[in-house]
Amino acid sequence: MPESLRPRVLIADDREENRYVLARVLDSAGFDCTQTGTGLGALEAAQTIPDIIILDVRLPDISGYEVCRRIKSDPRTASVSVLQISASFTSSDDRVRALEAGADGYLTHPIDRMVLIATVRALLRLRTAEAAARQAANQWQSTFDALSEGLALIDSNGAFLRWNRSFAEISGPKVQIVAGGDAGSFLKSLLGTDDPIKQYGRRYSAEFNIGKRSVEISANPIESERDGQGKILILNDITDRKLAEYALLTAEKLAATGKLANAIAHEINNPLEAVTNLIYLASSSSNTEDIHEFLSRANEELARVSRVTKQSLSFHRDSDRPIAIDVGALIADVISLFERPAAQRRVHLALSRESDVNICGFPGQLTQVFGNLVRNATEAALPGSEVSIRVRLIHRGKNEGARVTIHDRGAGIPESVRDKLFDPFFTTKDLKGSGLGLWVSRTLVVKHQGTIRFRSCRGPGKSGTTFEVFLPTTLV
Ligand code: ADP
Ligand code: MG
Repeated sequence: MPESLRPRVLIADDREENRYVLARVLDSAGFDCTQTGTGLGALEAAQTIPDIIILDVRLPDISGYEVCRRIKSDPRTASVSVLQISASFTSSDDRVRALEAGADGYLTHPIDRMVLIATVRALLRLRTAEAAARQAANQWQSTFDALSEGLALIDSNGAFLRWNRSFAEISGPKVQIVAGGDAGSFLKSLLGTDDPIKQYGRRYSAEFNIGKRSVEISANPIESERDGQGKILILNDITDRKLAEYALLTAEKLAATGKLANAIAHEINNPLEAVTNLIYLASSSSNTEDIHEFLSRANEELARVSRVTKQSLSFHRDSDRPIAIDVGALIADVISLFERPAAQRRVHLALSRESDVNICGFPGQLTQVFGNLVRNATEAALPGSEVSIRVRLIHRGKNEGARVTIHDRGAGIPESVRDKLFDPFFTTKDLKGSGLGLWVSRTLVVKHQGTIRFRSCRGPGKSGTTFEVFLPTTLV
């Protein structure tokens, strides 16, 4: 074996003849031996981290027991194996004393050559196995720490067993985690609730704010035969995802507003032209009745302009708290804004509404939802066809609410894309579509505790799509 690969043995014995014999035996068995005659010498040489120290109990300066205790209590040398050897102390009490000081083995003189070699080899194997276990544990901890999710293991008594670096980072500096500490009180001071821990046997997931960050926390029960049911807690910092979603919502809102601006400009321009003409006619007429008639028609046109501007403002402004909404009236307003672009495609928008379908919600957001759906239907409808929009008050289970359906006779939605429809950026309209309309609509409907779904048929004579939105009357 090359010199550098031979296991290194330090022999500490005050009697030179003992050292000589031990060194000869071990050297011939392939070990690389160094020697010292004192306890201090042994402590100094231990710092070079030999594989094994063979330590005589009786040393001139410090006792072998004490040398062993110091080696084992120093973290740098604690992993070095110590084989204690004694000639004069041979009772089982001595053996116990040596092992309690931390020795890994104990032999008494006279030492059989083969027993010595076998014992040293056994201790080496133990050391190798311990080093491998330590390395595996370190690798696990490093992997655990490299995860961006925060993970913590909780035992069946609700106490912290282990956690990774991200868990401590996401929790922030205000709370301290300690091994064996109560996870429930930790969560209470972090989130104001210990629900994630309390829910016995079930998976739990919720979003919280920790400082300025948004954090999703989930708790999963884990079963272990020995420890009963513990939990694994997962913290996920979702601040960036939230910001991105918010940016997308804003972008879609701007795009929707931009498209509407065109329709609105027409809506305003036409009555204004009419007003200009009517005023001209009034100013050049001498008949009082005619002048009255012209001015009153000009007044009506101006009232139309004012209605249109009010509707378009509702796209930008929204109340910060839900208010009472007449769904039929809201949809009539949306339709009035889309009638012109629909007419340009020779599509007729037909509204059938029950009166007094009232719900509680955010009118700006719902205008955006129905604007998206009506626009999609108009874009899908065949020229010359009708898009029918119905508003009804219905009962669904225990819930009362508004059901709005928007039905078009377009080409329908191919089976292959149906489950992608609500994904952000999914569009079949290339650069003309943002692919955000349905995604935003669903987000806003869910905010109203409602549902949105569709049915679609394809085939000659029966193709078309119906979107259905249900909005409960009251929000809880
Ligand atoms: P965009 O309209 O910008 O494409 P949307 O999220 O509003 O984005 O719609 C996504 C896709 O869903 C559309 O590109 C279209 O393929 C499909 N779609 C939506 N509504 C209808 C409809 N009424 N008929 C047929 N396809 C539709
Ligand atoms: Mg769309």
